[in-house]
Amino acid sequence: MKSVLIQGATGSIGSSALSVLAEQRGEFRVTGLAARSRQNELLDLARIWKPKSLALNDAHDETALRRESESLGVDSVFIGEDAALRQAAGTEYDVLLNAMVGGAGIAATLSALDRGKSVALANKETLVAAGDLVMESAKRNNAQLLPIDSEHSAILQCLAGESWSGIRTLWLTTSGGPFWGRRQSELHDVTPEQALKHPTWVMGAKITIDSATLFNKGLEVIEACKLFGVDPAAVKVIRHRESVIHSMVEFTDGSFKAQLSNPDMRLPILYALSHPNRVVSGLVASSPSDWSALHFDEVSFQDFPCLRLAYDALDRGGTIPCAMSAADEVAVQAFLEKRISFTAIPEIIENTMNTVTNRSADSLENILLSDAEARQAAHSLCRTHEIVAGDLKCS
Ligand code: NAD
Ligand code: MG
Repeated sequence: MKSVLIQGATGSIGSSALSVLAEQRGEFRVTGLAARSRQNELLDLARIWKPKSLALNDAHDETALRRESESLGVDSVFIGEDAALRQAAGTEYDVLLNAMVGGAGIAATLSALDRGKSVALANKETLVAAGDLVMESAKRNNAQLLPIDSEHSAILQCLAGESWSGIRTLWLTTSGGPFWGRRQSELHDVTPEQALKHPTWVMGAKITIDSATLFNKGLEVIEACKLFGVDPAAVKVIRHRESVIHSMVEFTDGSFKAQLSNPDMRLPILYALSHPNRVVSGLVASSPSDWSALHFDEVSFQDFPCLRLAYDALDRGGTIPCAMSAADEVAVQAFLEKRISFTAIPEIIENTMNTVTNRSADSLENILLSDAEARQAAHSLCRTHEIVAGDLKCS
């Protein structure tokens, strides 16, 4: 039986992962849980799953958390800024399922891989900021790194039994988000409520906004380059509004393979946990007769500047992808708090990328330094883009 440490347990992917493990109780057990701030939710999960360790960034009542944990038989409780890292570095588990959001997940992933543990990775920001370090650590420690992102899971499934030298193009599909068909100039006044309405997936707030700007697809382009070791020119994005084809591989002989199902993150989670095997599951049922038509459209960089920025960041290399990702986190938070407009998001990211120092991305120290520098630059850019009395204070 494999033991699983779930970090980001109270989030969208964390909850889906727990529903997968509830179905697969004979195969897996939960050995640890981590979250940022929802103490009561974390304790509720601990009552169900009886983990050996808990980690929480912001505990609202540390004494109660420790007392409750002890009564539930939890051996270790980690509290504070780097709680998830200390849990990943200091507890026993077979697989780290990293479902944290943003740069917060980088250090824990690296720590698990350095210990030779398997990582099932939803936290794509880790691969964007520290892709070379992560891939190198996985290789050096003979540790498995399996993507949970549905596009990358689809590609991995398409590549099973194939020689990777036969890859011509990795086609990442996107639903196009809620603003497909509208120009940038028409999006100035969109609200967080409108941007949070994703057409096909229900997800956490940050990735939902990233899906509306297509920044999420940009992150996924970088994630694909790092995971599969291909050049940026070999990764293309295509709009597929039904979200049934999760991605495709085009081979050098002209053949395509695709992976299909109704959209449900429990399937890629299941595959990451059972890889290279398949388990029996009734969680996601799909019927091809429901897919009467599958549509595809070209994606324009002009309508989605965030996608162009990701290719630009790949081209510039070093810590620019890390800075880009950190700036996005800051800008998305400012948009959710109604401090900046939707269209200011790409401007703030691009200006941050042009402001920060590009360092070599070969150490965690440089990555964390660039992450902090980019956040600071993005915060100050957000102030110059602040919305005043319903309009923009132009910078
Ligand atoms: P979410 O906001 O719903 O959940 C995030 C989780 O991370 C929460 O449990 C939160 O408490 C925890 N967390 C955040 N910062 C933390 C910290 N510093 N320490 C410990 N825990 C922390 O987000 P989500 O939608 O589940 O997405 C999680 C990750 O998975 C993101 O990187 C996202 O891009 C990726 N992803 C999500 C989906 C999806 O369908 N939701 C699909 C593909 C990839
Ligand atoms: Mg995805």
